[in-house]
Amino acid sequence: MLKIGILEGDDIGLEVVPETVKVMKAAAAATGLAIEWQPLPIGRKGHESHGHTMPAVTVEALAHVDGWLQGPIGHNAYPRNDPTWINPPLRKKFELFASVKPVKSYPNLPSLHKDVDIVFLREVTEGMQSGSVVFAGTGEFRPNDEVSIGMRVVTRKGANRVARAAFEIARTRPRKKVTAVHKEPVFRLVCGMFAEECRKVAKEFPDCTLEEVLVDGMAMKLVMRPQQFDVVVTTNQFGDILTDEGAGLVGGLGLAPGLCIGERQAMAQATHGSAPDIAGQNIANPYSMIMSGKMLLEWLGRRRGEQRAVDAAQRIETAVERVIAEAKHLTRDLGGAAGTTEMGAAIVAAI
Ligand code: ATP
Repeated sequence: MLKIGILEGDDIGLEVVPETVKVMKAAAAATGLAIEWQPLPIGRKGHESHGHTMPAVTVEALAHVDGWLQGPIGHNAYPRNDPTWINPPLRKKFELFASVKPVKSYPNLPSLHKDVDIVFLREVTEGMQSGSVVFAGTGEFRPNDEVSIGMRVVTRKGANRVARAAFEIARTRPRKKVTAVHKEPVFRLVCGMFAEECRKVAKEFPDCTLEEVLVDGMAMKLVMRPQQFDVVVTTNQFGDILTDEGAGLVGGLGLAPGLCIGERQAMAQATHGSAPDIAGQNIANPYSMIMSGKMLLEWLGRRRGEQRAVDAAQRIETAVERVIAEAKHLTRDLGGAAGTTEMGAAIVAAI
C-alpha cells in the first residue's frame, strides 16, 4: 500500500493533476497496486480554506505520505510581501535533494533531435542557488554598491547522495552510463569534491560506467549529439541550465516531467508553471504531470520493493507512447485538437 498526497496547485494544476490521478488510478487497478490517496490544500485554495498557501495541515500530512503530486503554483500572481502568500518551499522543507528530469523524443512529435533518451539529475539543496544553501540570510551579499559576491557550496554528503541516486537510476536502464558534469580544472575545490564523490560512488556500481564532461563542452555536445547521453548528474546551477536546454531539445515545456527525490519521499512536479493564460479552458497538455506521476510510482516501487508500482509506471509509459503515436487525442500544443480531459481519457483507455 502506497500513500500518495494530491496537491493540485493553481491554474492549470487544477486540470492536469486530476487527469494524472485518473491515469495513476487506472494503472494501479490494472496491476493490483493499492494506493491511499490524500488530497491536501495548497496554493490559492489553501489560502481560501486555511489562510495560507502552504497550510500547516498540509505540511503535517506530507510528513506521513510516501510521495505526492505537486501541481504548479501561481506564485507570480500572489501578493508580494504578504507572508501568507508564498511559493511553498516543499523541496527544502522535505529535503528533496535531487531534481530528476527525463528528456525523451518521440518519432512523430517535432523536436530538434530524434532518439534522445536522457535522465538528468540536478542537485538542488546546495551549489550556487543562494536561498537553498544557507541556514539564515542568503548566499549573496553586497559589501558596497560597486561589488556583489555570491558563494557556492558543495558538501561530500550532498554530492555523494545525488551521485548515488544517478547510479541507482542508471542501473535500471539498458545503457547503464552516468555522465558527471562539472568544471573541475577551474573550480578545483567545489567541482573537485563533486567529481571525487561521483568517482567514489561509481566504484560501488561496477555494472555501470562513469564518464566526466566539462560543463561548457556538455552544453555543446547536448546540442550537437544528445543521443550519446544516458544519465547525467550535475550540481545545482549547471543543472538548472542544462535541464532547460535538454527540454528544449525535445519540444519544450509540454514534454518536461520531473520528480524531486529525497531519502524517503518524492514529489512529482512538472517543469511547467501554472500557465494562467490558458487555465480553465481544457487545453493544457497533461503529459508532463502524468509522466511525473509515472516517475513517482516507478521510484517508490523500486525504493519500497513494490513491483506492482514499477509495473503500473510501465503501463502508464506504454499507454502514453501509444496515444502519442496514434496522434488522435493530443492537445493543440502537440499539434492535435483534443482537450486536457480527452487526452487524459485516451491514456486511461490505453491502460
Ligand atoms: P513559472 O514562473 O510559474 O514557472 P513560467 O513563467 O515559466 O511559469 P509557464 O506557466 O510554465 O511559465 O507557462 C509558459 C507558457 O507555456 C504558458 O503561457 C503556456 O502557454 C505554455 N504552457 C505551459 N505549460 C503548458 C501545458 N501544460 N500545456 C500547454 N501549454 C503550456
